[in-house]
Amino acid sequence: MKLKKGDEVMIVQGKDRGRKGKIEEIDVKKDTILLPGLNVYKRHVKKQGEGRPSGIIDFPRNLPINRVQLICPKCQKPTRAGYVMSEKDKHRICKKCQQMI
Ligand SMILES: [Zn+2]
Repeated sequence: MKLKKGDEVMIVQGKDRGRKGKIEEIDVKKDTILLPGLNVYKRHVKKQGEGRPSGIIDFPRNLPINRVQLICPKCQKPTRAGYVMSEKDKHRICKKCQQMI
């Protein structure tokens, strides 16, 4: 998983293609991410007692990570992340501008 929480990504496939958002949650087991307000679907709910009327609600669905591309915070371009090793650490870098991100 090369993405992390708070990363800005752009959706490259699906109904919200071209839209950007910040990663709110990551599911590492399923390789999916959640972007608030994006990839939102309508769900019909039945009345479930007092105060919870029936109707249509919006809910965001997780997106597979292969449907988004990382936006580099340094050069603002859609990019792929790479890694470089220093003596102690592994650093994530932008493959376009080579800066640490
Ligand atoms: Zn960059």
